[in-house]
Amino acid sequence: MARTPLIAGNWKMHTTAEEARALARAVRDGAAGVGDVEVVVCPPFTALAAVADELAASAVKLGAQNVFYEEMGAFTGEVSPPMLTALGVEYVIVGHSERRQYFHETDDVVNKKVRAALAHGLKPIICVGEKLEEREAGDGWKDLVRGQVKAALAGVSVAHAAKAAVAYEPVWAIGTGRTATPAAAAEAHALLREVVSGTFGRETAELFRILYGGSVNPENVKELMAEPDVDGALVGGASLKAESFVAIMHFGE
Ligand code: PEP
Repeated sequence: MARTPLIAGNWKMHTTAEEARALARAVRDGAAGVGDVEVVVCPPFTALAAVADELAASAVKLGAQNVFYEEMGAFTGEVSPPMLTALGVEYVIVGHSERRQYFHETDDVVNKKVRAALAHGLKPIICVGEKLEEREAGDGWKDLVRGQVKAALAGVSVAHAAKAAVAYEPVWAIGTGRTATPAAAAEAHALLREVVSGTFGRETAELFRILYGGSVNPENVKELMAEPDVDGALVGGASLKAESFVAIMHFGE
């Protein structure tokens, strides 16, 4: 496969620095020998340094859950791309549905964050996905998620594009235990790859990773990963226990 699978854990607002350190250590140990899979953990900002320390000699990579688009300045409470790269952060989740919902992140803000991340060498994992009422209202969800991806990647150069990834996360599947069927994920991923192809060309689209997110667990990951357009998973709840996250990175085997 041209695309190395990417399994990323989003720890959300969980773990103190010390708890994160212990979880990172267990993930690191469980990931030894995982093979051709890129594994990323995204602890809260306050735990990044501790987790970076634990992962220093491991192939598990460090991600953040958010980033601001300015480099520095009077932006109380925000964290800039250079602050993250200085800690060894390689990936950053951008536009998670919880940020869109609770912190009013618009497509425009998501795009600014994506471009700032890429300009500083961070790899954004761009979250898109429709809400339940949008999914139930016919085919409109397709244009909605297409639009989210187009907006997030606007102004990104072809050279940078394949450093980004998209996580298709139907909002109705996040934290609900209600996973998209592999066929539903496949349909969404195929249409999102078409968007990437239309924007950056077929070659970039073939390299571009599209992850699925939404109640991924050790039992359903194998089927999801069997879909050719599913290139990995963004995992919330099941990434908070090393045992389940390690099982997921092994595709449930
Ligand atoms: C997420 O928060 O990105 C997510 C997919 O959560 P969960 O796996 O808990 O549904």
